[in-house]
This record gives sequence, structure tokens and C-alpha cells, in this order.
Amino acid sequence: MLRALGHTDVRDSPDSPGPSLHENAWAVRSLTPPMLGRTQACMFAGAGVLGFVGVLLPHPTGFNVVGLVSLQAACLVSAILLVALGKRTPGWLVAITPFAGTALISAALYYSDQSTSAYMLFYLWIGIYAFYFLSRTRAWLLGAFAVLNYGATILLLRLGDGNATVGLANGDVHDFVLITGTLAVAGVFIVTLRDRVGRLIDRLTDAASTDPLTGLLNRRGFHHITETELERSRRGHRPFSLLVGDCDFFKLVNDQFGHHAGDEALKSIASLLDHNKRRIDTAARMGGEEFALMLPETDQHEAYILAERLRSRLRGLFAAEPVGLTMSFGVASYPVHGASVDALLRAADEALYAAKALGRDRSVIYSAEVGAILTGNPPNRGGDHAQLATVLSLAEALDVRDTGTARHSQTVGRYSELMARALRLGREHVERVRLAGVLHDIGKIGVPDSILGKPGPLSDEEYGQMRKHPEIGARILGGSGLEDIRRWILAHHERPDGQGYPHRLVDEEIPIEAKILAVADAYEAMTSDRVYREAIGERAARDELRRHSGTQFDPRVVEAFLRVLVQRDRDAADEEGSVREARSG
Ligand code: GH3
Ligand code: MG
Ligand code: MG
Repeated sequence: MLRALGHTDVRDSPDSPGPSLHENAWAVRSLTPPMLGRTQACMFAGAGVLGFVGVLLPHPTGFNVVGLVSLQAACLVSAILLVALGKRTPGWLVAITPFAGTALISAALYYSDQSTSAYMLFYLWIGIYAFYFLSRTRAWLLGAFAVLNYGATILLLRLGDGNATVGLANGDVHDFVLITGTLAVAGVFIVTLRDRVGRLIDRLTDAASTDPLTGLLNRRGFHHITETELERSRRGHRPFSLLVGDCDFFKLVNDQFGHHAGDEALKSIASLLDHNKRRIDTAARMGGEEFALMLPETDQHEAYILAERLRSRLRGLFAAEPVGLTMSFGVASYPVHGASVDALLRAADEALYAAKALGRDRSVIYSAEVGAILTGNPPNRGGDHAQLATVLSLAEALDVRDTGTARHSQTVGRYSELMARALRLGREHVERVRLAGVLHDIGKIGVPDSILGKPGPLSDEEYGQMRKHPEIGARILGGSGLEDIRRWILAHHERPDGQGYPHRLVDEEIPIEAKILAVADAYEAMTSDRVYREAIGERAARDELRRHSGTQFDPRVVEAFLRVLVQRDRDAADEEGSVREARSG
């Protein structure tokens, strides 16, 4: 299989679908014209030399020595020509030379003046070449041509004698049938042998790149196929992603239920990944309880969404089993996270490590900063800007995961900015608050999407997990130049009446910026559709803010926001009025 892939030149077919896993390694097309040309040169040289020896040795008197020697010379010249052409040997030439060789054999037979002279054995060379190297159709075509040649030669010889009819009746038909029959049987033998060897090579190559337990590709096979796909993406300037997934606490399955149960679970996981990936993707078992997927034409956000889908299906598959298996995924994409297969696998592994550190059963997109923060070792490289870019891209990916669009965070950012301005914070301060709005939910990377996407009410345990997101967000943003934003995000679910989380802070302990985030987040959530409820409309949302002002929300912030909204409505009405006036005027 992999040998066959090795011969598939990606440059020739940038748009063809991914490499097939079951191409015949013995594929005839893997032989190039120069390779066939070399083989033919050897055969011509061999026939030329042997033919000469045949003429030099004592031979029947009927031999036309001059004719035979010129044929041997023609053979040697052909051999030299083919060697000289070397890599430039054209396909059409190697396609017609076997026919020319067959004609030379027939001529040799004619010059030997005997239809059963030893020169007839050279037809066998043609048969062996045809059935070993050519496709079946071409082989049978060349075989038929040789048979016709032989028949024509017999006829010519008898016509030369002047008694064709008598000669044919006396034994020529007998010779013809036996010799062409031998040729045909040799052909069948060679074709059968060739197919068997081909299948054997396929099986051996497959075995070297397949995981015997699950039937998926193993690490070696995955690496090889990924190299080919990466090359394709590089040439086409297209994205390409890798997922690496590892079962959570798999050791427990073996410990509690035995290795056989562990193996069965691995088979189920493999089959789930294989059936739920897209058709263009490739799944592999990288070893132990670690799997990988190659996703062509896929950027990091799409890969993330796919990882989440696989993860939640896997969770669902094992939900009814005595052992509730889950899986964590790391995502890395070309070209943003690496330019080689090794670099991408390393990046995906690091992201997987981060997913494990965040509590497992989740997917994490690779970023140098998040990975390092989670290991308690924030890097200096790239500074705040690099970290900011990473967390912003993370926030966007999370938004896409949670709501299907990248709108929620941006809208909360805009509302927060408007409130900050209405509360007369400084210009830079306003910008920081807007950024905090965009990043406020970053900690949801730590909440499984089975919880975020649950249509019904959450159980106590699920709610407990959900409530961790301000702390996880703070952890992701910790140890950086975003310290202020980190504090606000940590407190954005605190309430003035002390009923919030995670620290049940009271009114004066909560930063004003966190109070702004709380109002923006609540208003955006109420006015947009969610899986667990539909939007309640702007008027109802404003009533809700008023109703909870002083308990859940800070009255000053609510009042500022309502003012902002009234002003926004007025501006919109004015604009509409002037457009109408302009139209009527
Ligand atoms: P985590 O990855 O969440 O940190 O925990 P874990 O328990 O999955 O991680 P760890 O790497 O410590 O253990 C992996 C276990 O997977 C160890 C080994 O018993 C089991 N394992 C690996 N390969 C196979 C296999 O082919 N069959 C079975 N039954 N178990 C396997
Ligand atoms: Mg594991
Ligand atoms: Mg492991």
C-alpha cells in the first residue's frame, strides 16, 4: 500500500481525492518508461548475443547467415539506443518495441528456414515480458500478435517451398497449436504468480502500517499518509489539521474490567472515530489508548468543532456502559502551528496535555502560551501581544463552538465598552473593558460541550462544572500583562447581594468592570437564542435588568446601560427619519 503511495506523484494531481489505502503495490503503472526501456535493452542485447552464438555454432544448412546476422545487429543497435535514451525514454517507444522484437523473431525463424528451429523459443521471451510487465490487455494483445506472426511465418516458409498445403497438413498445424498453447499456458502461470506476489506484498505492506487490534493505520502508516497530505496542502496553500486524542483514565478500565474489556473498548473507540470522521479524513491508532486524525482542508476552528463532535459522540457511546469513557483532544493546524508533520504532532500533543491539565474530556487548540500557562511556566517569547492574539483566537473558537457564530463575545465586548464610556471611564480603561468583554467566557474552554450544549436544566454536578469557568478563565489569563482583565473576569459572576460565584463577594468588593461584564453578558444572553431557551426580546430583557438591579446587578451600571440603550434607539430612529425624509424629498 505505502509503496504504491510512494509512486503517486502529488504534483500530478493536486485536486485528486486523498490517497487510497488499498492500491495494489504491484500496480503495473508503477513501472516507468525508463525502467521498461532498461529491461527491453537487456532483452535485445541477450537475444542479439545468443543469436550470434547460434550462427557461429554448427547449424542446419538452410540457415540464411547474412539475414540472421543482420537481425542480431538490429537487436544490438536497439539495445544501445534504449540505453542511450535512459531517463528520456518515451512511453510510446517502450510500447511499440515489443512488437518490433516479435517481428524480428519471426524474421529469424524465416531465415533459419525451419518453423521449429530453436529461434522459436524467443517467442517465450516475449510472452514472459508481456505477462510480467504489462497490463493484462496489453499482454494478451502482444501475445496475439506473436501468435499471428508465428502463423504467418509458417505460411511464408511453405510458400517458399512451393507446397504450402501439403506442408501444413503434415505437421505445421501440430507445431503451431503446441507452441502457441505453450505460450498461452506460460502467460496464465505468470499472470497468476504476479497477482499472488502482488497480493502478498500488499498484505505485508498493510501489516507494517496497520494496527492489528483496531484495523486503523498505526503510527507509521499515519505518518506516511500525513506527509503526503501535508505536501498537497503546502502546494495548494490550503489549511490542514491534526487531532490527537487520548482516552481519559483508561488504566481504570483495565484495572476494573480486565485487559480484554480494555481491548474491546479500544475497538469501539476506533470504530466510532472511523465512522464519525468525514470521508476525507484519516483516523489512526498511534499506540496504547492514543488516536489521531488527519483533517485535510480544515483550519483550526473547524478542526476544533470536529474534535468536539467526536468527543461528545464518544461520551454518548459509553454513557450507558458500566465504564463512562471520555477522551481529550489536542488540535494543531498547518500552517499556523507548524510546517512539518513532526512539528504538528508535537503541537497537538502539547494541546492534548493542556486538555488533560484542564480536567480532561475536552478539546484544546494548540497555542504556545496557553500550554505554557497551564504548566505554570508562562513564556516571555512574544510577550503580551502573542498571548493576547492567542486568547482572542481561543475566544473566537469558543464562541463558534457554543453558539455557532463568533458573535456573543464581540457583542458583550461592545456593550461593555458603551457602559464604560457612559460611566466616564478613561479612554484606555474603556478599551480594556471592551477586551475583557470579548474574553469574559474564555474559561468555558474548561467546560465540556455536553454541558454547554445541554438543552434541558443542568444537574448539580454539571452546574458545578459550569461555575468553574471564571476561575479557569482567570487561570488562562494569569501571569501575564492582562492582570486587570483577569481580576474582572474572575468576578464577572459575583453579585452585589453576595449570592454570586466563585467567592460570594459583596457589593463593594466587586470591581465595577466585573459588574459591567455581568450586565453585558446577561443582556446579550437574554436577547439571543440559546439551546436551552429562546431570546426574550429587548423590552423584557430591560425589565429583567431593572427587576434585578441592586441584587444581581449594580444599579449604577444598569442605569448607565439603560441610558445607553435609549440613546441608541433614539439615534436609530433619527437615522431612519432622515432616510425617510431624504427619500420623500
Ligand atoms: P490519562 O490519559 O487520562 O492521563 O490516564 P490514563 O490512565 O489513560 O493514562 P496512562 O497513560 O497512565 O495509561 C494508559 C493505559 O492504557 C495503560 C495501559 O494499561 C492501557 N493500554 C495501552 N494500550 C492498551 C491495549 O492495547 N489494550 C489495553 N487493554 N490497554 C491498553
Ligand atoms: Mg489516557
Ligand atoms: Mg495515554
